Amino acid sequence: MLLITDTGVPDQFIDVDQWGGLTMLRLDDGWCAALDRDTMLCSIYDKRPLICRDFAMGSDECIAEREVTG
Ligand code: SF4
Repeated sequence: MLLITDTGVPDQFIDVDQWGGLTMLRLDDGWCAALDRDTMLCSIYDKRPLICRDFAMGSDECIAEREVTG
């Protein structure tokens, strides 16, 4: 997930891809490093990336993704 605007994502959750682009850091299992695994809530909600703000909960894309991931 590319960080195309600065929303204040803390540095510890930012990675750099092979082209030098800033991305959200993923853990080894593929989950976003900013996800609180106990609550399954975003730990940086007020500073979450733009794409997370645009991904509307309950949208067709959201429902399709939930069907894939269970
Ligand atoms: S909403 Fe938060 S936990 Fe979910 S992908 Fe975005 S930054 Fe990660």
